[in-house]
Amino acid sequence: MLNKKSVDDINVKGQKVLVRCDFNVPLKEGKITDENRLVAALPTIKKLIADGGKVILCSHLGKPKGEPKPELSLAPVAARLSELLGQKVKFAADPEVVGPNAKAAVEAMKDGEVVLLENTRYRAEETKNGEAFSKELASLCDVVVNDAFGTAHRAHCSNVGVTQFVDTAVVGYLMQKEIDFLGNAVNNPERPFVAILGGAKVADKLNVINNLLEKCDTLIIGGGMAYTFLKAQGKEVGKSLLDESKIDYCKEMIEKAEKMGKKLLLPVDAVVADGFPSPIDAEIQVEVVSADEIPADKEALDIGPATAALYAEAAKTAKTVVWNGPMGVFENPILAKGTIAVAEALAETDATTIIGGGDSAAAVNQLGFGDKMSHISTGGGASLEFLEGKELPGVAAANDK
Ligand code: ATP
Repeated sequence: MLNKKSVDDINVKGQKVLVRCDFNVPLKEGKITDENRLVAALPTIKKLIADGGKVILCSHLGKPKGEPKPELSLAPVAARLSELLGQKVKFAADPEVVGPNAKAAVEAMKDGEVVLLENTRYRAEETKNGEAFSKELASLCDVVVNDAFGTAHRAHCSNVGVTQFVDTAVVGYLMQKEIDFLGNAVNNPERPFVAILGGAKVADKLNVINNLLEKCDTLIIGGGMAYTFLKAQGKEVGKSLLDESKIDYCKEMIEKAEKMGKKLLLPVDAVVADGFPSPIDAEIQVEVVSADEIPADKEALDIGPATAALYAEAAKTAKTVVWNGPMGVFENPILAKGTIAVAEALAETDATTIIGGGDSAAAVNQLGFGDKMSHISTGGGASLEFLEGKELPGVAAANDK
């Protein structure tokens, strides 16, 4: 599927291998609160250790905006990775990332050892794909492996720039797995292929809606974006989220679906309240109304039970499902039922189920359905851009097969 060289196509024995990982994990008071991204990086790291490479890991963490911020140091990641790998990961603390400390740590490495560099975004050039920092990173290694799917939609020094200054740049197992799952689902799906889109705004997902409509058999729309579609059908949506400037676009998509013979499912009922909950998890009074009768003074905050059943049924008959974006304000337990119903339906089917990262991935994991899905992407933004049909610069930069 992916026509790029991978870690299986190279021999790293005795070589210095710079591995761009996605260790951008959530931290609370110095503790990692979700280590999925670390676990997902292990297969590539283990393979390179086993092959006798000198494994130099790097990643960004949060947004230190080009200067050292102790609270965004990768030190806690080195500690946890050491435990997960059962072998020491030496942390090369260095405010310049590739400064004297990092260089000395790499120089002292033996085959099969692992060093983790400091947060690449301590350097302002990183996100600008600056040549000098790319060269510095390249000077540390013989080979580059990119396994950071979460940043694959960005062209930065550590995942794209650096590849211009080495002869060999390949992808890791995680990158390969992400692209294989998403690519197969979208371009070569076992049918019926059902795409479920939610989240707040139509405007954020214009190209995703268009691209998936072309590829899928059934497109399901939930979340805040559904109400601009209902408005496009001439319905009253009250105080619900509405992208006025995208009503025509939604009309176009409805017509396109009809012309192409695709099913486009929209809410038939909704859970409404007087307004958006404040704070978001506040206990609020809700009622269920038909999608044809949303009162002018109410806001729709979740799909209703009839819609949830309709969507769950459609998901159950699918052979491939791709889901991105929650069905309602799932942060509030009273408004999470639609999202839970869809997650449950996906957990129960035998279909290939792919969760496109971000909020939907968090929701599925929080609800305990994580291990019931075929694939949960580690990259929200990257998976969305992939679903839009865009080429990801982080993938494009690797050597072709
Ligand atoms: P993902 O992270 O899975 O890609 P997303 O983050 O792109 O999804 P967003 O567009 O950010 O999705 O939308 C998620 C937000 O949408 C959630 O915070 C949720 O509360 C909100 N939301 C969902 N349904 C509604 C609704 N009916 N009205 C208002 N907000 C909604």
